[in-house]
Amino acid sequence: MNKKYWLYIDSFIHIAQKKNNVLLYHPYTGKILEYTDNPDAANLVRRIRSPKNLGVIGMTSEELSNPAVHAFVSEIKRHFMGDVLDRSFSDGKPVQMPPHVKIQKDIAYLKNIKSRSVGEKIMGYLSEVSIYLNEECSQHCHICPSAFRQFPCCHCSPSLKKAVRMLDMEILDASLDEIGGSSSVSLNLLGGNILVYPHLECLAALLKNRGVPYNLFVHYLNLAEHPNHNASISPLGGSPGFYIVPVSFPVDEDKFRIVCEILRSRHVPFKFLFIIESSDDVNRVETLLLQSRFQGVNSAIRIFYNGHNLDFIEESVFINPSTIEKKRPPLKTIYTNGAVNRSYFGKLTIMPDGGVYAGVKDPCLGRLGKDSVYDMLSKEMSAGKSWLRVRPKMKPCKDCLYNRLCPPLSNYERVMGKNNLCHIYPAG
Ligand code: SF4
Ligand code: SF4
Repeated sequence: MNKKYWLYIDSFIHIAQKKNNVLLYHPYTGKILEYTDNPDAANLVRRIRSPKNLGVIGMTSEELSNPAVHAFVSEIKRHFMGDVLDRSFSDGKPVQMPPHVKIQKDIAYLKNIKSRSVGEKIMGYLSEVSIYLNEECSQHCHICPSAFRQFPCCHCSPSLKKAVRMLDMEILDASLDEIGGSSSVSLNLLGGNILVYPHLECLAALLKNRGVPYNLFVHYLNLAEHPNHNASISPLGGSPGFYIVPVSFPVDEDKFRIVCEILRSRHVPFKFLFIIESSDDVNRVETLLLQSRFQGVNSAIRIFYNGHNLDFIEESVFINPSTIEKKRPPLKTIYTNGAVNRSYFGKLTIMPDGGVYAGVKDPCLGRLGKDSVYDMLSKEMSAGKSWLRVRPKMKPCKDCLYNRLCPPLSNYERVMGKNNLCHIYPAG
């Protein structure tokens, strides 16, 4: 007898489909099922997702005996993604309400709400501002031209004219309320060597008065070689400043020790940021920090693409399905990945000439002191090249089933000129 069943996929399962290719992802277990060039699985999923079927379709035992259909149904059952129900228990069709996703920061959503303007809450979206105070520095680190394009790090441009190498303090002061208007905004102060920025103490005092926490990025060589490093740190003592100290290779161990001693003796909160380019660098960091005099120091690493270490980048940055399964992105992240870029969203960078950028590789949004921060944020929210730079809109990721599961596009992709830093969909 040809028995009848209901087949469904749970509404919390993330489904991606491109023609006859299908991906199912379970957000609680992280399990990914992928069907490539499988018309049977693709047809079933298409029918289940059709709005008129409300997530449930009728099946007969004859249809279920098709080997491809049987394999698909067995797998979704085994991984708790769906099931078949015997219709003899209930001939009335069960339904599932498909999720209706509403992302508060989605520009398309905001534009459709007549009672709200796009900019209504826009200042509240600002979460991190990196301010490059100057471009002066006497070091000659090989990472300098490119590291700041990959992650927040100091940077100098010796070729620029002196006149544009320092941020105007009056303009900065006038803009501080707008930039640091929200208590949740985190400020990064970077250079060059910010210890030679003549208004650093004044700026620190202004921020202290406003109770705004900030991070000071000072390369360890600049700290170690500053003629009077104790005095340079002293005015910031007791202020809410946190030192982030980039350390690039090769490390001068004596200078590293000096910096460690200075920061510890001044009771300044700090973290070393090791900029690594190879697995050998990782070992060097481990060996250095194993020394008893450096034990317990706060540290983090940043991977640096130097143009010649693709193997290391592939090993440490490239995505594969098991990375995603281990990370187990929740549904909220998956939905957000379709609307805004979580790496860039809410972040601005201000360069010493006052130019404001959502991403350092993107066009300038405006100029501090000339354009309002509100207008610049509205511009980025409406037609931005950074905050709205999401994989489902970019080649080749737009054609890939994983485009909402992968981490958002970051500066590594921009610097390497390739969006698919992965072992999944390497074509393109
Ligand atoms: S210390 Fe920083 S700003 Fe100076 S050369 Fe090195 S990376 Fe560039
Ligand atoms: S092509 Fe893009 S979306 Fe697809 S797996 Fe690679 S990085 Fe992720």
